[in-house]
Amino acid sequence: MKTKQDFPSINERKAEGVKENGDAYKVLIVDDSMFVTKQISQILTSEGFDVVGTASDGQQGVEKYKELYPNVDVVTMDITMPKMDGVSALEQIIEFDKNAVVVMISALGKQDLVKKSLLVGAKNYIVKPLDRKKVLERILMSLNQ
Ligand SMILES: [Mg+2]
Repeated sequence: MKTKQDFPSINERKAEGVKENGDAYKVLIVDDSMFVTKQISQILTSEGFDVVGTASDGQQGVEKYKELYPNVDVVTMDITMPKMDGVSALEQIIEFDKNAVVVMISALGKQDLVKKSLLVGAKNYIVKPLDRKKVLERILMSLNQ
């Protein structure tokens, strides 16, 4: 009978969305585009992350964060959204929880808003169109920062 030692390299890689203790990282996705929300969600769940909530504008994002707190490890925050933009929502989340881990999702050409977000306390940012590798890399960087 073959043992695990016969296949040393198979399934050795740990899913990126899972902590050392085996728990999945919990994610809140805030974006007014259903397409982008689905895209982020698919990338993250395929790596074992747990999407615990979604919100389609900044105001709802802040409310969801407070409601889920402390059971959110990372927030992806779109910049351009109705009712309340992502930078204002970020400010309110940081005001509520200064240790919040927020990664901004930006369209091309929004460098000023990205800079402002980083000053306010966003841990990282990702520019659209979203690339799977970059999404995972930036989110993991922000969690290990
Ligand atoms: Mg948007």
